[in-house]
Amino acid sequence: MLNLTITEALAKLESKEISAVELTQAHIDAMAKHKGLNAFITETPELALKQAAASDARRAAGNVGLLEGIPYANKDLFCTKSVRTTAASKILENFVPDYDSTVGEKLLSHGAVMLGKTSLDQFGMGSANTNSYFGNVINPYGEGLTPGGSSGGSAAAVAAKMAMCATATDTGGSVRQPAAFCGIVGAKPTYGRCSRWGVIAFASSLDQPSFMARSVEDTAIMTQAASGYDAKDSTSAARDVPNMIAAAKSGDVKGLRVGIPKEYTVDGMPSEIKALWEQGAQWLKEAGAEIVEVSLPHTSHALPVYYIIAPAEASSNLARYDGVRYGHRAKDFTNLNDMYEKTRAEGFGDEVKRRILIGTYVLSAGYYDAYYVKAQKVRALIARDFEKAYEQCDVLLTPVTPSAAFKIGENQNDPVKMYMNDVFTNPASLAGLPAMSVPAGKDANGLPLGLQIIGKRWDEETMFKTGRALEMAAGFKGL
Ligand code: GLN
Repeated sequence: MLNLTITEALAKLESKEISAVELTQAHIDAMAKHKGLNAFITETPELALKQAAASDARRAAGNVGLLEGIPYANKDLFCTKSVRTTAASKILENFVPDYDSTVGEKLLSHGAVMLGKTSLDQFGMGSANTNSYFGNVINPYGEGLTPGGSSGGSAAAVAAKMAMCATATDTGGSVRQPAAFCGIVGAKPTYGRCSRWGVIAFASSLDQPSFMARSVEDTAIMTQAASGYDAKDSTSAARDVPNMIAAAKSGDVKGLRVGIPKEYTVDGMPSEIKALWEQGAQWLKEAGAEIVEVSLPHTSHALPVYYIIAPAEASSNLARYDGVRYGHRAKDFTNLNDMYEKTRAEGFGDEVKRRILIGTYVLSAGYYDAYYVKAQKVRALIARDFEKAYEQCDVLLTPVTPSAAFKIGENQNDPVKMYMNDVFTNPASLAGLPAMSVPAGKDANGLPLGLQIIGKRWDEETMFKTGRALEMAAGFKGL
């Protein structure tokens, strides 16, 4: 049962060959077997079996959602009613929300079964999962290798077949980079397509619920189930959700113009990544697409702009963790300010503190114009680059990461090096565009490499179609 795609499992559930309870139990057993990967912070097997039994009953009554009976893993940044939600931080170590995120509610209403909450870089800040208070996650491709971040627990869970799919979030690359490192598919829809309500905030103008699975179609099914307008998130869009599943099934790219942005060739890029990128373009050409070179001139500014805007928003969003309203509170303190200081010093990890410091600095009176306002202006230019490029093409093809999965601990003492992981993913985040990672090949050490597809705003259909075409051509075999 663990080797099934979601589509295959749905067919077997429908024909009564398997039940949701059996499918869920198989995944609970797999979670026990792979405990050493440390993918989950909180496991919820009892809840999962209860939800699975309810799903079997619904199916028997002819009531079938898009993910009816499908076990999934939920990134521990999504609030879950009565289930601890930590953001992988000490400050929220014992936080139990009394509501579900909108995405979680939608998945549940489509019949999905939650297996537990997966680990991440604290508050979504990181690229290696080494910033989790609960210990780092291990990439199923190798002891000692990072699964990427921040959604590393979700990626490891899906790659090791502990879950059929998983939620993730993407602020600057957190679904795409771990998906690439673990050889699975990860998709971030257009900003506004999915509600952020109930997702612990990191950088609100960038955060987007995102989805992972082992095939493009499965990822589209999950994205479809979770998308749509939500009155509780003022940035969610009141637009019809397109049929992403049909697009992912078709994979028809005949006549499609695929743009290759020349600025994504960076110095020191491993030749394997460059070669895979060229191979990807060739595959799409053979499938009937037209390849066009395009220019995104402000690409090189995306990384510094992201690392101003994201920390600025984080410093504001994280002000709420003050030891008063909820979460951890320091035990010994002399007065109110001392309590705030000790609570935050104890509760936040190093990287979170670094972001709060950077964010506070760039927002401070003397530096606001020089950093924050300037970054906002350059962000607009980056978004405009994409608009111009899309006059010449329908979708973009680029690498996802500048390397395959690296060793746990590598880059840890050099934050700028760690931030370089986002060099190919930050631009689409700043422009709010849909983007996905598709496993397309392996490096000399047998580690997965992905290709990134960036779509036009609201055009997840073309993104999924192109993703499917690449998937078919690449024939990538996961674990
Ligand atoms: N690696 C990026 C960061 O550390 C992206 C994280 C994310 O998308 N949540 O901010």
